[in-house]
Amino acid sequence: MLEEKLKIDKIKKGTVIDHIDAGYALTILNLTGLDETTNLMTIGVNVSSKKYAKKDIIKIEGVFLNEIQMQQISILSPNNSISLIDNYKVIEKKKVKIPKIIKKLIECVNKTCISNSIKEPIDSEFMVLEEKPLKIQCTYCNRIYKLDEIRFSSKGKIEKKVKQKFQL
Ligand SMILES: [Zn+2]
Repeated sequence: MLEEKLKIDKIKKGTVIDHIDAGYALTILNLTGLDETTNLMTIGVNVSSKKYAKKDIIKIEGVFLNEIQMQQISILSPNNSISLIDNYKVIEKKKVKIPKIIKKLIECVNKTCISNSIKEPIDSEFMVLEEKPLKIQCTYCNRIYKLDEIRFSSKGKIEKKVKQKFQL
């Protein structure tokens, strides 16, 4: 019981991202840019869980996620649950589902793909073929990507690539 308490140390105000696939917390922090926060952050990696064998959990004090960050997390870890905390209480729980079509968030690496056209660039669009393990297909050039092959679009920042693989 004491052990459980230590793991689920409460935050006053902020965000708890729970039920992250084991081994993905650091990838999520890196890809969503949350690793740049100077706020207090607690990260649990490979925490024992009743629902799944193991999970990761992230708690960030004083930070609420934006829509893009939530979508990125849903792509990286479809089973996650996001809780907004205020005054030590959960004020909102979000289950962010992976969308059927992912727009703008991910870049197609195919140089000849129309989404990379220099003349008239258009927003990228991917169809989700399988959620887990992730398999998506570019709507324009039909190229298929697995989770460790995708690249998130990021403005002004160096593209960050998924490094870890699923550990089931
Ligand atoms: Zn493409």
